[in-house]
Amino acid sequence: MKIAVLSGKGGVGKSTVSASLAKVLSERGPVVTADCDVDTPNLGILFGMDDGDFEKEWVSTGEKAVLDKEKCIGCRKCLGICVFSAISWGEGKPEFDRLACEGCGACSLACPVGAIGLEQVENGWIGDAEKGGICIATGQLKMGEAGSGDIVDLVKKRAEQICEKIGAEHTIIDSAAGIGCPVIASVAGIDYAVAVTEPTPSAFSDLERALEVVKHFKIPYGIVINKSTLDSEFSGKMKEVAAERGAEVIGEFPYDKKFLDAAVGMKPVVEIAPEYKGEFEKILEKVGAL
Ligand code: SF4
Ligand code: SF4
Repeated sequence: MKIAVLSGKGGVGKSTVSASLAKVLSERGPVVTADCDVDTPNLGILFGMDDGDFEKEWVSTGEKAVLDKEKCIGCRKCLGICVFSAISWGEGKPEFDRLACEGCGACSLACPVGAIGLEQVENGWIGDAEKGGICIATGQLKMGEAGSGDIVDLVKKRAEQICEKIGAEHTIIDSAAGIGCPVIASVAGIDYAVAVTEPTPSAFSDLERALEVVKHFKIPYGIVINKSTLDSEFSGKMKEVAAERGAEVIGEFPYDKKFLDAAVGMKPVVEIAPEYKGEFEKILEKVGAL
Protein backbone atom coordinates (compact mmCIF):
# COMPACT_ATOMS: atom_id res chain seq x y z
CA MET A 1 0.00 0.00 0.00
CA LYS A 2 1.00 3.63 -0.49
CA ILE A 3 1.25 5.62 2.73
CA ALA A 4 1.98 9.36 2.65
CA VAL A 5 3.31 11.20 5.68
CA LEU A 6 2.40 14.89 5.63
CA SER A 7 2.38 17.76 8.09
CA GLY A 8 1.33 21.10 6.67
CA LYS A 9 4.01 22.89 8.73
CA GLY A 10 7.66 22.01 8.27
CA GLY A 11 9.90 20.94 11.16
CA VAL A 12 7.33 18.96 13.16
CA GLY A 13 8.93 15.56 12.51
CA LYS A 14 7.38 14.38 9.25
CA SER A 15 10.61 12.91 7.85
CA THR A 16 11.52 11.48 11.26
CA VAL A 17 8.21 9.57 11.34
CA SER A 18 8.61 8.53 7.67
CA ALA A 19 12.09 7.12 8.26
CA SER A 20 11.10 5.03 11.27
CA LEU A 21 7.88 3.74 9.66
CA ALA A 22 10.01 2.59 6.70
CA LYS A 23 12.64 1.07 9.00
CA VAL A 24 10.04 -0.93 10.95
CA LEU A 25 8.41 -2.14 7.73
CA SER A 26 11.80 -3.09 6.25
CA GLU A 27 12.28 -5.65 9.03
CA ARG A 28 9.36 -7.59 7.55
CA GLY A 29 10.15 -7.29 3.86
CA PRO A 30 11.37 -4.93 1.17
CA VAL A 31 10.07 -1.39 1.43
CA VAL A 32 10.45 1.66 -0.77
CA THR A 33 10.45 5.26 0.37
CA ALA A 34 9.73 8.25 -1.85
CA ASP A 35 11.11 11.59 -0.74
CA CYS A 36 8.63 13.99 -2.33
CA ASP A 37 9.90 17.07 -0.51
CA VAL A 38 11.52 18.05 -3.81
CA ASP A 39 12.53 21.58 -2.80
CA THR A 40 14.56 20.30 0.15
CA PRO A 41 14.83 16.50 0.01
CA ASN A 42 16.51 15.15 3.15
CA LEU A 43 14.96 11.74 3.88
CA GLY A 44 18.10 10.01 2.58
CA ILE A 45 20.16 11.77 5.26
CA LEU A 46 18.09 10.01 7.94
CA PHE A 47 19.24 6.70 6.44
CA GLY A 48 22.89 7.76 6.42
CA MET A 49 22.92 8.46 2.68
CA ASP A 50 24.64 11.42 1.07
CA ASP A 51 24.33 13.03 -2.32
CA GLY A 52 26.92 10.71 -3.87
CA ASP A 53 24.82 7.63 -3.06
CA PHE A 54 22.12 8.61 -5.57
CA GLU A 55 22.09 7.59 -9.20
CA LYS A 56 20.63 10.69 -10.81
CA GLU A 57 19.12 11.63 -14.13
CA TRP A 58 18.26 15.13 -15.24
CA VAL A 59 14.61 15.76 -16.12
CA SER A 60 12.60 18.58 -17.62
CA THR A 61 9.35 19.96 -16.26
CA GLY A 62 8.92 22.81 -18.71
CA GLU A 63 10.10 25.10 -21.45
CA LYS A 64 11.81 28.50 -21.68
CA ALA A 65 11.77 31.14 -24.39
CA VAL A 66 14.85 31.26 -26.60
CA LEU A 67 15.73 33.95 -29.13
CA ASP A 68 17.09 33.40 -32.62
CA LYS A 69 19.12 36.61 -32.92
CA GLU A 70 19.61 36.16 -36.67
CA LYS A 71 15.85 36.23 -37.27
CA CYS A 72 15.03 39.06 -34.83
CA ILE A 73 14.35 42.36 -36.64
CA GLY A 74 14.15 44.41 -33.41
CA CYS A 75 10.48 45.39 -33.87
CA ARG A 76 9.88 45.38 -30.06
CA LYS A 77 6.49 43.67 -30.42
CA CYS A 78 7.44 41.09 -27.77
CA LEU A 79 8.34 43.78 -25.24
CA GLY A 80 5.53 44.28 -22.72
CA ILE A 81 3.83 41.00 -23.67
CA CYS A 82 5.28 38.99 -20.81
CA VAL A 83 3.12 39.04 -17.67
CA PHE A 84 6.05 37.48 -15.77
CA SER A 85 8.35 40.44 -16.59
CA ALA A 86 10.86 38.09 -18.14
CA ILE A 87 11.61 40.26 -21.20
CA SER A 88 13.76 43.38 -21.15
CA TRP A 89 15.44 45.32 -23.94
CA GLY A 90 19.13 44.83 -24.60
CA GLU A 91 21.32 46.02 -27.46
CA GLY A 92 18.72 46.30 -30.20
CA LYS A 93 17.20 42.94 -29.24
CA PRO A 94 15.07 41.53 -26.41
CA GLU A 95 16.71 39.74 -23.52
CA PHE A 96 15.05 36.91 -21.62
CA ASP A 97 15.33 36.29 -17.89
CA ARG A 98 15.58 32.48 -17.69
CA LEU A 99 14.52 32.37 -14.04
CA ALA A 100 11.41 34.52 -14.56
CA CYS A 101 10.28 32.87 -17.82
CA GLU A 102 7.40 30.43 -17.26
CA GLY A 103 7.42 29.15 -20.84
CA CYS A 104 3.87 30.31 -21.60
CA GLY A 105 4.73 31.01 -25.26
CA ALA A 106 2.96 34.40 -25.49
CA CYS A 107 6.10 36.15 -26.77
CA SER A 108 6.57 33.48 -29.41
CA LEU A 109 3.03 34.08 -30.68
CA ALA A 110 3.60 37.86 -30.71
CA CYS A 111 6.78 37.73 -32.79
CA PRO A 112 6.00 38.42 -36.47
CA VAL A 113 9.11 36.69 -37.81
CA GLY A 114 9.24 33.54 -35.67
CA ALA A 115 12.41 34.64 -33.86
CA ILE A 116 11.28 33.29 -30.47
CA GLY A 117 11.04 29.57 -29.85
CA LEU A 118 10.53 27.43 -26.75
CA GLU A 119 13.04 24.84 -25.63
CA GLN A 120 12.85 22.13 -23.00
CA VAL A 121 15.09 22.84 -20.01
CA GLU A 122 16.63 20.33 -17.64
CA ASN A 123 15.55 21.94 -14.40
CA GLY A 124 15.52 19.07 -11.95
CA TRP A 125 16.71 15.57 -11.27
CA ILE A 126 15.31 12.32 -9.98
CA GLY A 127 17.31 9.45 -8.59
CA ASP A 128 17.40 6.47 -6.29
CA ALA A 129 19.65 4.78 -3.80
CA GLU A 130 19.69 1.78 -1.47
CA LYS A 131 21.31 1.38 1.92
CA GLY A 132 20.76 -1.13 4.69
CA GLY A 133 17.69 -2.64 3.02
CA ILE A 134 15.98 0.74 2.50
CA CYS A 135 15.35 1.85 -1.09
CA ILE A 136 14.67 5.50 -1.64
CA ALA A 137 13.48 7.43 -4.68
CA THR A 138 13.96 11.15 -4.59
CA GLY A 139 14.34 14.23 -6.74
CA GLN A 140 14.99 17.93 -6.61
CA LEU A 141 13.95 20.96 -8.57
CA LYS A 142 16.63 23.53 -9.39
CA MET A 143 16.33 26.73 -7.36
CA GLY A 144 13.81 29.21 -8.78
CA GLU A 145 12.31 26.72 -11.24
CA ALA A 146 8.64 25.85 -11.59
CA GLY A 147 7.22 22.34 -11.80
CA SER A 148 7.65 20.82 -8.34
CA GLY A 149 4.42 18.82 -8.77
CA ASP A 150 5.86 17.27 -11.95
CA ILE A 151 9.04 16.25 -10.12
CA VAL A 152 6.91 14.67 -7.36
CA ASP A 153 5.02 12.67 -10.02
CA LEU A 154 8.32 11.45 -11.46
CA VAL A 155 9.65 10.50 -8.01
CA LYS A 156 6.47 8.52 -7.29
CA LYS A 157 6.75 6.75 -10.65
CA ARG A 158 10.39 5.88 -9.90
CA ALA A 159 9.28 4.50 -6.52
CA GLU A 160 6.64 2.34 -8.25
CA GLN A 161 9.28 0.96 -10.62
CA ILE A 162 11.55 0.06 -7.68
CA CYS A 163 8.60 -1.58 -5.87
CA GLU A 164 7.96 -3.79 -8.90
CA LYS A 165 11.66 -4.60 -9.28
CA ILE A 166 12.28 -5.66 -5.67
CA GLY A 167 8.76 -6.95 -4.91
CA ALA A 168 8.03 -4.37 -2.23
CA GLU A 169 4.51 -4.32 -0.86
CA HIS A 170 4.62 -0.86 0.73
CA THR A 171 5.79 2.65 -0.17
CA ILE A 172 6.29 5.36 2.44
CA ILE A 173 5.92 8.76 0.78
CA ASP A 174 7.52 11.66 2.65
CA SER A 175 5.36 14.51 1.38
CA ALA A 176 6.44 18.10 0.95
CA ALA A 177 5.46 20.52 3.71
CA GLY A 178 2.68 23.02 3.06
CA ILE A 179 -0.51 22.58 1.09
CA GLY A 180 0.63 23.49 -2.42
CA CYS A 181 1.08 21.64 -5.66
CA PRO A 182 3.77 19.18 -4.45
CA VAL A 183 1.55 18.11 -1.54
CA ILE A 184 -1.41 17.49 -3.84
CA ALA A 185 0.88 15.49 -6.14
CA SER A 186 2.25 13.59 -3.11
CA VAL A 187 -1.16 12.44 -1.85
CA ALA A 188 -2.76 11.70 -5.23
CA GLY A 189 -3.42 7.96 -5.51
CA ILE A 190 -2.29 7.02 -1.98
CA ASP A 191 -4.10 4.59 0.33
CA TYR A 192 -3.58 6.32 3.67
CA ALA A 193 -2.27 9.65 5.00
CA VAL A 194 -0.35 9.86 8.27
CA ALA A 195 -0.73 13.48 9.40
CA VAL A 196 2.07 14.57 11.74
CA THR A 197 1.74 17.58 14.00
CA GLU A 198 3.14 19.04 17.23
CA PRO A 199 1.35 20.80 20.10
CA THR A 200 1.49 24.37 18.82
CA PRO A 201 -1.44 26.37 17.43
CA SER A 202 0.41 27.10 14.16
CA ALA A 203 1.31 23.44 13.54
CA PHE A 204 -2.24 22.28 14.26
CA SER A 205 -3.76 25.01 12.09
CA ASP A 206 -1.42 24.17 9.18
CA LEU A 207 -2.22 20.48 9.62
CA GLU A 208 -5.95 21.17 9.35
CA ARG A 209 -5.33 23.01 6.09
CA ALA A 210 -3.24 20.13 4.74
CA LEU A 211 -5.98 17.69 5.76
CA GLU A 212 -8.43 19.59 3.55
CA VAL A 213 -6.45 18.20 0.60
CA VAL A 214 -6.66 14.67 2.04
CA LYS A 215 -10.40 14.97 2.70
CA HIS A 216 -10.96 16.33 -0.81
CA PHE A 217 -9.51 13.10 -2.22
CA LYS A 218 -11.48 11.05 0.38
CA ILE A 219 -8.26 9.43 1.64
CA PRO A 220 -8.36 7.71 5.03
CA TYR A 221 -6.05 9.41 7.52
CA GLY A 222 -4.86 9.41 11.11
CA ILE A 223 -3.03 11.97 13.23
CA VAL A 224 0.34 11.53 14.94
CA ILE A 225 1.23 14.02 17.67
CA ASN A 226 4.98 14.47 17.87
CA LYS A 227 6.77 16.16 20.82
CA SER A 228 3.46 15.91 22.69
CA THR A 229 5.00 16.64 26.11
CA LEU A 230 6.20 20.07 24.94
CA ASP A 231 2.68 21.21 25.83
CA SER A 232 0.63 18.35 27.25
CA GLU A 233 -2.40 20.59 27.78
CA PHE A 234 -2.48 21.66 24.12
CA SER A 235 -1.88 18.04 23.05
CA GLY A 236 -5.03 17.15 25.01
CA LYS A 237 -6.96 19.92 23.27
CA MET A 238 -5.80 18.68 19.87
CA LYS A 239 -7.07 15.21 20.72
CA GLU A 240 -10.45 16.66 21.73
CA VAL A 241 -10.73 18.67 18.51
CA ALA A 242 -9.65 15.66 16.44
CA ALA A 243 -12.29 13.47 18.13
CA GLU A 244 -15.00 16.10 17.56
CA ARG A 245 -14.12 16.07 13.86
CA GLY A 246 -14.12 12.27 13.64
CA ALA A 247 -10.34 12.03 13.24
CA GLU A 248 -8.29 9.44 15.11
CA VAL A 249 -4.97 10.08 16.84
CA ILE A 250 -3.07 6.95 15.80
CA GLY A 251 0.26 7.72 17.46
CA GLU A 252 1.99 9.97 19.94
CA PHE A 253 5.63 10.62 20.78
CA PRO A 254 6.96 12.70 23.69
CA TYR A 255 9.60 15.38 23.30
CA ASP A 256 12.79 13.36 23.63
CA LYS A 257 16.36 14.39 22.82
CA LYS A 258 16.88 10.93 21.30
CA PHE A 259 14.93 12.11 18.24
CA LEU A 260 17.48 14.88 17.78
CA ASP A 261 20.35 12.45 18.44
CA ALA A 262 18.95 10.16 15.73
CA ALA A 263 18.80 13.04 13.22
CA VAL A 264 22.36 14.10 14.07
CA GLY A 265 23.51 10.47 13.83
CA MET A 266 21.73 10.13 10.44
CA LYS A 267 19.61 7.19 11.61
CA PRO A 268 15.89 6.44 12.01
CA VAL A 269 15.01 7.04 15.66
CA VAL A 270 13.94 3.39 16.18
CA GLU A 271 17.55 2.39 15.60
CA ILE A 272 18.88 4.34 18.55
CA ALA A 273 15.72 4.25 20.68
CA PRO A 274 14.08 0.82 20.17
CA GLU A 275 11.59 1.63 22.95
CA TYR A 276 9.66 3.61 20.31
CA LYS A 277 9.36 0.67 17.92
CA GLY A 278 6.07 -0.45 19.47
CA GLU A 279 4.46 2.96 18.85
CA PHE A 280 5.53 2.90 15.19
CA GLU A 281 4.16 -0.65 14.87
CA LYS A 282 0.88 0.54 16.40
CA ILE A 283 0.68 3.30 13.77
CA LEU A 284 1.34 0.79 10.98
CA GLU A 285 -1.37 -1.52 12.37
CA LYS A 286 -3.87 1.37 12.37
CA VAL A 287 -2.82 2.25 8.83
CA GLY A 288 -3.40 -1.38 7.78
CA ALA A 289 0.18 -2.07 6.71
CA LEU A 290 0.88 -4.70 9.41
S1 SF4 B 1 7.50 32.34 -22.82
FE1 SF4 B 1 5.96 33.49 -21.63
S2 SF4 B 1 6.98 33.73 -19.66
FE2 SF4 B 1 8.61 33.22 -21.09
S3 SF4 B 1 9.40 35.18 -21.79
FE3 SF4 B 1 7.81 34.55 -23.25
S4 SF4 B 1 5.95 35.54 -22.52
FE4 SF4 B 1 7.42 35.59 -20.84
S1 SF4 C 1 8.89 40.43 -31.58
FE1 SF4 C 1 10.39 39.07 -32.54
S2 SF4 C 1 11.42 40.32 -34.05
FE2 SF4 C 1 10.33 41.73 -32.71
S3 SF4 C 1 11.89 42.28 -31.16
FE3 SF4 C 1 10.74 40.55 -30.36
S4 SF4 C 1 11.96 38.79 -30.98
FE4 SF4 C 1 12.64 40.48 -32.21
